[in-house]
Parts: sequence; C-alpha cells; structure tokens
Amino acid sequence: MISAPSGAGKTTLVANLLRSLPGLRFSVSHTTRRPRPGEREGREYFFVSRGRFEGMVKRGEFVEWAEVHGHLYGTSWKALRDAQAGGSDVLLDIDVQGHRKVRRRLREAASIFVLPPSFRELERRLRRRHLDQPAEIERRLADARREIHYWPEYDFLIVNDALASAVRALRSIVVGSRYRRLAQQDCAREIANGFGG
Ligand code: ADP
Ligand code: 5GP
Repeated sequence: MISAPSGAGKTTLVANLLRSLPGLRFSVSHTTRRPRPGEREGREYFFVSRGRFEGMVKRGEFVEWAEVHGHLYGTSWKALRDAQAGGSDVLLDIDVQGHRKVRRRLREAASIFVLPPSFRELERRLRRRHLDQPAEIERRLADARREIHYWPEYDFLIVNDALASAVRALRSIVVGSRYRRLAQQDCAREIANGFGG
C-alpha cells in the first residue's frame, strides 16, 4: 500500500518501480474523476460515472472506497484478484482514509508513505505538472496540509527528494517486505514441520 499527498511523486515512483521489479503488479482502481491527458482507461484507473461507482458500492464490489479531492476512488475485489493472479505481489495506491480502513484487514501488507521534501516543493511540482486546473491544485494543496499528518500510521516513509534514490528506497522496501515473517510463515512452518520434534 502506498499513499502520498498529491504531487509528492507517487505515480512517478510507482511507474519506475513497476518497470524495474518483476513479480509486482498494480491494482487498478476505479475513479469518478476525469482522465488526465496521457491517462488510459484500465491502466491508471477505470474511469466511471458517479452513478456507476455508487452502483458498485451498493453491490459490495469494493474492498474499500473513499472520497478524495472531491472525487470517488475505490479498489475493487476484481482488480485486486486480477493483480494477484500468478502469485504476484500487489501494489495498492490508496489515500490515507483507504489505508486506515484496510490496514488491519491486510496485516501482511507493508504500507509506505511518500513525503515531498517541503510544502513549497509540493506546490512547485503540482503547478509544473500542468495536469490539473488551478482550482483543483488549490484543493489538493489544502488537502495536503491535512494528509501529511498521517505519516505516523505507516510502516515505511520515503522522502522523495532525489528521484533515483527514492526509487531505490521504494524497491528495497518492496523486496524486503517479501521476507517479512507474515509473508514467509507458511513456508517456514512447512520446513519446521519436516524437522519433527
Ligand atoms: P503524485 O502521483 O504523487 O500526485 P506525480 O508522480 O504525478 O505525483 O509527480 C508530480 C510532479 O512532480 C510530476 O511532474 C513529476 O514529474 C514530478 N516529480 C516526481 N518526483 C520528483 C522528484 N523526485 N524531483 C522532482 N520532480 C519530481
Ligand atoms: P489522483 O487523482 O492524483 O490520481 O489520486 C488522488 C488520490 O486518490 C491519491 O491520494 C490516491 O492515493 C487516491 N486513490 C487512488 N486510488 C484509490 C483507491 O482505490 N482507494 C482510495 N481510498 N484512494 C485511492
């Protein structure tokens, strides 16, 4: 699970990681926000209307969902299953509310919070990205002032200052998490059982 205030560089970090680490897949969420230039249906998100999203909520199709920056976002059970197919590790892009909701249910999952080096730098990145309207940027900056304080709820923190070292840190965390006791316990148990005694 990975969270960050908008503009901290999470999408950039995740894209770099997915390119360079085999055995890891991204769970594609549903959202009611409009696609940005360059975004593709089914790659960054499944883009749906509010009506369609609310129908999915009623039918229990989401593992979790939340309203973020005035739009709805959710992880569907289907997206999670598809990403898990073939035994891959799954990366969930999730906001701070979604993280709070699933953290206890997904005990084996590591959670990562990405921080920008400063508020000023976050603002600079959001403006230079040229992907959101000015009002949307203001809203995201206001939300960032609140979201940044959730960092103590996460297992791992990455300050995304120099991109290459932040990508290296993210890769280390994901690879390291594969060896957590909860991730290895079935295998360890089987070996230990073979010892008898
Ligand atoms: P998020 O997904 O967290 O909203 P993005 O990945 O879209 O953020 O990054 C926001 C902007 O900041 C993009 O224009 C991206 O190219 C830029 N960016 C990302 N990481 C860094 C970095 N380490 N240093 C400078 N700019 C960065
Ligand atoms: P963006 O519009 O910049 O792509 O994403 C906005 C926010 O929505 C980010 O904080 C991102 O983590 C969050 N988000 C994306 N997908 C999901 C999801 O499936 N569930 C929740 N709770 N948040 C999500």
